[in-house]
Amino acid sequence: MKSDTADLIEVFSSIQGEGDLIGRRQVFIRFRGCNLDCDYCDTNAVDFDHCRFELTPGRQDFQQMANPVSMPKVIELLERWQRGWPGVHHSISLTGGEPLLQVDAIHTWLPELKGILPVHLETNGVLHIALFKIVNDLDYISMDIKLPSSSGESGLWDHHHAFLETAAATEVSVKTVVNCATEEWEIERAARMIATVNDNIPLIIQPETSPDDTIKLSQLRLIEFQDLASGILADVRIIPQTHRFIGLL
Ligand code: SF4
Repeated sequence: MKSDTADLIEVFSSIQGEGDLIGRRQVFIRFRGCNLDCDYCDTNAVDFDHCRFELTPGRQDFQQMANPVSMPKVIELLERWQRGWPGVHHSISLTGGEPLLQVDAIHTWLPELKGILPVHLETNGVLHIALFKIVNDLDYISMDIKLPSSSGESGLWDHHHAFLETAAATEVSVKTVVNCATEEWEIERAARMIATVNDNIPLIIQPETSPDDTIKLSQLRLIEFQDLASGILADVRIIPQTHRFIGLL
């Protein structure tokens, strides 16, 4: 099934603050809605009837738009940015919420989006059947492994494993958020699960950012987690949510 429209929260230009593409300038298309309810979620959307489009890349001069949004409206904005600011953007990030909840719209939009820039999917790494429909049209995937201690979500291990097996068809990295409650067995289980697919897939350990933009987890704990995972995987990095520290969206 194909759909031309999607419920969005916002379309804007910023610097990727997390994960494997950190520091890259991206166009973010933030989809509304999520299938999970993580304790640390910072995606708040209260106005379901509207989203907002940034008019000038990175200037936060937003214009309100009605939901659902049709593909030509998004394409028109992206093409205008490509003409006016050539070479600025590295890629388009499909983010959320959980973008794969609206996979039919993404499936319809992808050929046009890919004609403008490479496409990066940021996902909670659970909806593997939806991913299967579009994986061959994606250039990058950043997926989460939700640890019970930090997310409050449990029972997702098998979903994450099936998702990673599908995602491995393209350039994929895994991010996992850790906090003061995170235990060694969770890091080890996540690393071993990744290794069963490919032990060269990057694992990014992200310390949870508090609402006041500080990190409560000690540096020593982060180092211990990296030591543990590095005994199983070839590429383990510690990266905080950098956009929060420089006040970007
Ligand atoms: S998966 Fe992401 S958007 Fe969904 S509840 Fe968790 S942190 Fe929020």
